[in-house]
Amino acid sequence: MSFVILAVVAIAALVGVAVLVITLSKGGSADGAGTAREAPLQAARSRDVIFFLRFEGRDDETYVRDLSARHGQIHSATQAREAALDVVRAAPTATHAYCGPATTAPQGPGLAHTGLPGGVVLGFLVRGTKPLDTVADDSSLQSVVAELRKIAAWVDSDFAGADLKLAQVAIDAPAPPLVAVRKETRPGHQLCVYCGEAFLAHDTRCPNCGARVGA
Ligand SMILES: [Zn+2]
Repeated sequence: MSFVILAVVAIAALVGVAVLVITLSKGGSADGAGTAREAPLQAARSRDVIFFLRFEGRDDETYVRDLSARHGQIHSATQAREAALDVVRAAPTATHAYCGPATTAPQGPGLAHTGLPGGVVLGFLVRGTKPLDTVADDSSLQSVVAELRKIAAWVDSDFAGADLKLAQVAIDAPAPPLVAVRKETRPGHQLCVYCGEAFLAHDTRCPNCGARVGA
């Protein structure tokens, strides 16, 4: 039925007959009008939010394994804050990411959707007492970290639960696929204006093409 409504609206838009749209909205319910206002790329809000972050390379993998062992039990806002802060510290070198409503990953933080060999994936489920923001563009690591920082600032009344795990991975896992991070969105990184490579924000010379930038 919603398909029919969409089709009618699309035709109306194509023909440009504003009168028809007005007639439809008069005839339709208030609910219908509300649905039409929703932007397609708007991030969902949810009390339960799940993060997945993938890392590769020996140093990162060791750090992430230690991190998940350290935060195996999260029973308070304080422990959730500490876990979130550690994930924020690790995040700048993540290769792939996801942040969305926990309903998208019914098996929880312990099972991630990726077919990539090697590396480790950290799963972090947070349960808030109020709706939490998620991310519309998972390739923006900055956006994912911004949501993690909000968890790292939780007060006691925000906390309903949290679970941090080293995730198993499967190419057909019933969970949203992790998205490749755009390097220039890594916190502390900049994009070379000459060759397009991402590198550390405090560097004044691009390690890829040798161009001098900024400073
Ligand atoms: Zn360059």
